[in-house]
Amino acid sequence: MTVSAKDLGHLHNLHIEFQEIVGQLDRGPKRIKAKQQQTAQKMQELDEARATLKQTKVSAEQKNLELKSLETRISSMNGKLNQATSNKEFEAIKGQIMADEMAKSVLEDEGLEILDRVDVAYAKMKECEEALKKAQEEEKLFRDQFDSRAAELNASAKRLESEIAASSKVIPAEFQEQFRRVSANKGADCMAPLINGTCQGCYFNLPAQTVITIKTGHIVFCKSCAALLYPSE
Ligand SMILES: [Zn+2]
Repeated sequence: MTVSAKDLGHLHNLHIEFQEIVGQLDRGPKRIKAKQQQTAQKMQELDEARATLKQTKVSAEQKNLELKSLETRISSMNGKLNQATSNKEFEAIKGQIMADEMAKSVLEDEGLEILDRVDVAYAKMKECEEALKKAQEEEKLFRDQFDSRAAELNASAKRLESEIAASSKVIPAEFQEQFRRVSANKGADCMAPLINGTCQGCYFNLPAQTVITIKTGHIVFCKSCAALLYPSE
């Protein structure tokens, strides 16, 4: 019993198509999972940015309170300066005021520096918010795209499975079991076209006699890669 190259080529094409669809069904959830991990990462970065901003604002507030209390003290000492009863007391208060003014100037510089840090932390938080939004949108897009494709892909996989089962009947009964094993192991590589005496699955050169056997419609499995060989133009 001989088999036509056309029937075998068709069967191989069905296997290739089936493998591609199974691959898409397999890759979809993996890509969605990767997107979920990216979203979780962006969420964590945003949480950290928010915590940094909060902490920096607290520091700025503390610095401001220190400054206020120093200003109150300076103003109270300025009042005492006018009530000084001796030159010595006057000079002592004046010295204290000068020291406090110096401390105030340092605090003011530090306060400005913290306000800069608040601005930076705020910008960073906004940036993280944007990045999270983008990651969430991308994840949703991926999920929606896959969900709308999955039903179609599953239907195609089912259709191809029955087409493969029907088309596999061209293989003579004595080779069915071997072909079933090879296709279970190798997927679409269970078949390979023969071009110029070479198996296109593994590029093994076949003996001239084997090439003739294949070309006259007999079933031959490649000795090197186990694929069922069929002649190709
Ligand atoms: Zn081969």
